[in-house]
Amino acid sequence: MMIELTKANSDVFIPDEVSEQVALARTTHLAIGAHQDDLEIFGYAPIAECYAKKDKWFTGVTVTDGAGSVRAGIYSDFTDEEMKEIRLQEQRKAAFIGEYSIQYQLGFSSSEVKNPASDHIINDLYAILNIAQPEEVYLHNPADKHDTHVSTMVRAITALRKLPVDKRPKKVYGCEVWRDLDWMMDDEKAVLNTSVQDHIATALVSVYDSQISGGKRYDLATTGRRLANATYYASHGVDDISSMNFAMDLTPLIENPSMSLKDYTVAAIQRFQDDVAGKLDRFA
Ligand SMILES: [Zn+2]
Repeated sequence: MMIELTKANSDVFIPDEVSEQVALARTTHLAIGAHQDDLEIFGYAPIAECYAKKDKWFTGVTVTDGAGSVRAGIYSDFTDEEMKEIRLQEQRKAAFIGEYSIQYQLGFSSSEVKNPASDHIINDLYAILNIAQPEEVYLHNPADKHDTHVSTMVRAITALRKLPVDKRPKKVYGCEVWRDLDWMMDDEKAVLNTSVQDHIATALVSVYDSQISGGKRYDLATTGRRLANATYYASHGVDDISSMNFAMDLTPLIENPSMSLKDYTVAAIQRFQDDVAGKLDRFA
């Protein structure tokens, strides 16, 4: 393999079996998620944009190893090692269905991702980004409520900021999984169109049977969120996009590496707070 990843249990999957070099060179859109299934939940828009295109390719990077997953039903007596293998294969299935250019599974534990002293994840992400040089990058959003999602996003921002200026992506987005972005001001939301090939969108989340059988209908919830986002996005007129994800534009943080991620995020929350407070003041 071209890129030396830290973990012996890391996995590299190229659905159409070109070389890793070719798969990275053709990459235009890249998403970095914490767990198997996150890319398909938050990143369907770039997956769909690249699907069956000759000049656009989606690359997925999944940071953790799937340990500690909930298990129920047919999976209830599976060991942790068996569940890791099931989840790894589920991510490969999604990469195949979605015609990804290449899918990396870095194989880190959640605690490693959350440890600020560990450079390994940043190094792996940097190595991939430095060669792939995607035009657009999709991450977890900074106001997500899942600690592993937030720490994965922070590691990714650090890796992106280390890139030489000419290798940095043109756009970086923070996307919805464990907390949506409905609370953002409408004019600040980046709209990601998920209304194309909804049968593929459904298939991509549905391959994660181990998670859905665990008791949570991520397939229905993911579709429902996208429909609700589109319906409630604007109060006037007819929806011209029937399904959408929202994203926070994180590009300014990459263009200006000294900008505080915390300040940037809290300022967006402050504008939401001001809007709510302002309405209540007005009608009191
Ligand atoms: Zn996740």
